[in-house]
Amino acid sequence: MREATCACGALTAQLSGEPVSIVACHCIACQKRTGSVLGVGAYYPAAQVDVSGSAHAFKRTSDAGHTFTSHFCPTCGTSLYWESGKNPGMIGIAVGALADPRFPRPLRSVWEETKHDWVAVDTIAAHFPKGRT
Ligand SMILES: [Zn+2]
Ligand SMILES: [Zn+2]
Repeated sequence: MREATCACGALTAQLSGEPVSIVACHCIACQKRTGSVLGVGAYYPAAQVDVSGSAHAFKRTSDAGHTFTSHFCPTCGTSLYWESGKNPGMIGIAVGALADPRFPRPLRSVWEETKHDWVAVDTIAAHFPKGRT
């Protein structure tokens, strides 16, 4: 059991079991969403995620035409979790919100086409210039 929390603690997600996938994403949308130079997400089946607290949603359409809805704390602004039309039934959790430096490393690093040059991601599996379906 793990817990992801926003910066102020009002929005939390209880996670049971292990994530299906962990992805580092360098796309510009993830850079904008996080305010950082990359986004790192752990993907869990929705049944393994229990969210409490109120969140605001921001919906956009991805380059591939899928909806992408991120949920953020209205008080502190942390982008805690998201859903993508590309992976229905899955919830992405912001790995930084777990505050666990021992959390497993990403399986994949995607959208390296827009990766900042100085960023190096030590993945388990692979690197991709663009997204991967
Ligand atoms: Zn908060
Ligand atoms: Zn991205």
